[in-house]
Amino acid sequence: MRKNPIYSSIDYEKNGIQHGFLRLPHSRDDSAWGAVMTPIMQIKNGSGPTALITGGNHGDEYEGPVALFNFAGRTEFEDIQGRVIVVPAMNYPAFQVASRVSPIDGVNLNRTFPGKPDGTVTQVLADYFSQTLLPMADYVLDIHSGGKTLDFVPFSASHQLEDKQQEAKCRAAMRAFGAPYYVSLLEIDSGGMYDTQAEEMGKVFVSTELGGCGTTRVESIEIAKRGVDNFLIHAGILDGELQHGKEKPMCLDMTGDEAYLFSKHSGLIEPCVNLGDNVKKGDLMARIHIIERTAVPPYEYHAQCDGMVIARHVPSLVKMGDCLNVVAEIIEDEF
Ligand code: CA
Repeated sequence: MRKNPIYSSIDYEKNGIQHGFLRLPHSRDDSAWGAVMTPIMQIKNGSGPTALITGGNHGDEYEGPVALFNFAGRTEFEDIQGRVIVVPAMNYPAFQVASRVSPIDGVNLNRTFPGKPDGTVTQVLADYFSQTLLPMADYVLDIHSGGKTLDFVPFSASHQLEDKQQEAKCRAAMRAFGAPYYVSLLEIDSGGMYDTQAEEMGKVFVSTELGGCGTTRVESIEIAKRGVDNFLIHAGILDGELQHGKEKPMCLDMTGDEAYLFSKHSGLIEPCVNLGDNVKKGDLMARIHIIERTAVPPYEYHAQCDGMVIARHVPSLVKMGDCLNVVAEIIEDEF
């Protein structure tokens, strides 16, 4: 099989702070010998664990990139023991055009792992993470938000894993991140996800959803910045004390399909609940108005389980099959 064509200008074994690029040759109409240049930085100080921290896996999610462009600007590394590799905007072509998927090949990076060294641009990038960056890492943090089409209450997340020891380590790191909520996440479809790749390689993996609507808020940025430091402190890489918010974090569980409310209609959403509201099974969640004509009664959508509204669809126009809401159960902290 072809060798991965990405060239990294970072020397991963070198001590100190380095800024560089992952250069992926991309010959195209406006640049015969062009390349996709994904910014990457590393801080290394002696021996110790390695953390790999990413944002912009989906190009329209911004808490990760803002927190990581900030982190990458640090000039000190005496308080670091080990290695931190930071890619603020993982799917860089998507990030450049504020899109969830790559404009080059239309591929969703987070559905294409483990990737292919001889595939399309996004598949080659995924392969580089699978074959080069992930093998170096002990701790992996991938900062997500809802993008242009979803909005979330801010939470860190880990998955239920077959290896219970690994699961416990992921949960401990998820807690340490210090978001107001944490969630034991059940993915709709975990195939091809970066999460799954990192977990199958035995890494301590934490993901997040910190907001959405294709933008950021002061509070969500604060959570992301604090979370990056907390994650590194927890990993034993950064000196310092864990910093948590004022409120005690709440633990949420999404273990059943009933957590997800999908639209069976296309139309105009009239929301009947807000993010963070507590609902009971059967409560009215939203009404969807048919927009082709007047005097058609709206379709009503009801909660399928008790819990808290942790996600909502953002554009007011919804399409059949879109996720309208997610409801998670509030559980006793058992982590
Ligand atoms: Ca995402």
